[in-house]
Amino acid sequence: METLATIAQLRTWRNARLGSVGFVPTMGALHEGHASLVRRSATENVDTVVSIFVNPTQFGPTEDLDKYPRTLQADLDLCRAAGASAVFTPDKLMMYPPGFATWVTVDRLTNKLCGKSRPDHFRGVTTVVTKLFNLVQPARAYFGQKDAQQALVLTRMAQELDMPLQVITCPIVREHDGLAMSSRNRYLSDADRQRAVALTQALQAIQAAFHGGQRDVVSLRQTGLAVLAPRVDRVDYLEILSAHDLAEIGRVESRALCAVAAFVGTTRLIDNVILEG
Ligand code: AMP
Repeated sequence: METLATIAQLRTWRNARLGSVGFVPTMGALHEGHASLVRRSATENVDTVVSIFVNPTQFGPTEDLDKYPRTLQADLDLCRAAGASAVFTPDKLMMYPPGFATWVTVDRLTNKLCGKSRPDHFRGVTTVVTKLFNLVQPARAYFGQKDAQQALVLTRMAQELDMPLQVITCPIVREHDGLAMSSRNRYLSDADRQRAVALTQALQAIQAAFHGGQRDVVSLRQTGLAVLAPRVDRVDYLEILSAHDLAEIGRVESRALCAVAAFVGTTRLIDNVILEG
């Protein structure tokens, strides 16, 4: 496995590839969720590139950019074990030279859910992912359903901008008690870690009510909030929207995304489940 620290090194490496390249963009602090994407890419492509870049433009001014966990050596070990051929580790200046002024934005889908409380977040994501796609030129790029809205936005971006690649969304990998794996879980104290599972349990309660025949969105939300609200410090949102385009719905008649974001201590966690069938 090669470690490519500069854009020039990545271009040289890329130009020498003859077969399909799969791509897994990450911000590092890697865990089994990331590993699942790398393994999938390694089975579907000749080469797999993982990028590790804590992208400053997707963090708000009061968010955790400076304290975001950085664990490069362990990340490289995980990538190697999962079958990556190369890891790209650019720095901030290389990705955003002074005077950088070009942005890629996706309308509408980005105003919902996380976009409401993180106004410039998706513009940062779509811009950096476009740059990375242009550099890596992958045949397939792998994202996690954990960030369901991000996966929808990037799928739409690739389609509408005619990007010559396939965006593939992979299942959420969870801890033994159901908590969705996240780089931010390592911020949690032991007590907060116990409470964090409330997000997943709220989604499970909604899923159980749905499978019991409940289709009304107001009452499904109430079921979830009754589990969630008493155990977290602040609910950012718990919403049930069309899984296709995040449109608001009154009843779950077709595939719906049930998504939650909440603060446990000062850590903002997200999770989601698809309601269907
Ligand atoms: P991040 O490093 O948080 O930007 O995540 C990089 C990629 O890994 C994104 O596509 C995430 O959706 C995905 N990912 C993060 N956590 C998980 C998880 N628990 N299961 C599956 N994919 C994940």
